[in-house]
Amino acid sequence: MKNNCVFCAIAAGEIPSFKIYEDDLVLAYLDINPFSKGHTLVIPKAHTKGLLDTDNAVLADVIAKVKKVAAHVALTIGCDGFNILQNNGDAAGQTVRHVHFHIIPRWNGDPLTFENKKGDMDELAALAEKIRM
Ligand code: AMP
Ligand code: ZN
Repeated sequence: MKNNCVFCAIAAGEIPSFKIYEDDLVLAYLDINPFSKGHTLVIPKAHTKGLLDTDNAVLADVIAKVKKVAAHVALTIGCDGFNILQNNGDAAGQTVRHVHFHIIPRWNGDPLTFENKKGDMDELAALAEKIRM
């Protein structure tokens, strides 16, 4: 696996993902252990570990895509708001060392639990079908 990195493998199509959006530089797909319904990850296809080793030009492109995907996810699943989360390092809970942004849909009054819950693969497949751009 390139860079020994699961997100590089997803970007290369070597392992499957519930894809929402793709262009030349960026990929977005559902988190398989979602914090909430529609939890989506946005990555640059080029491998870097985190925020600090990623070029500003790449970050500018990725955050523009985060905005575009978040707007679409929010509209499609009908959430009331969303969090953007980007973890760096063990202390921050980063488990995958390929820079990524979380889009976490929220509903008015929902309990804020930033905890992974094992996703149901059939539900995720159906949701990705619905949200795909
Ligand atoms: P972080 O804690 O910021 O490193 O987040 C990594 C996220 O990647 C977690 O929420 C995982 O559930 C998610 N994740 C890990 N492997 C996969 C995968 N193969 N497809 C989709 N999401 C994944
Ligand atoms: Zn990678």
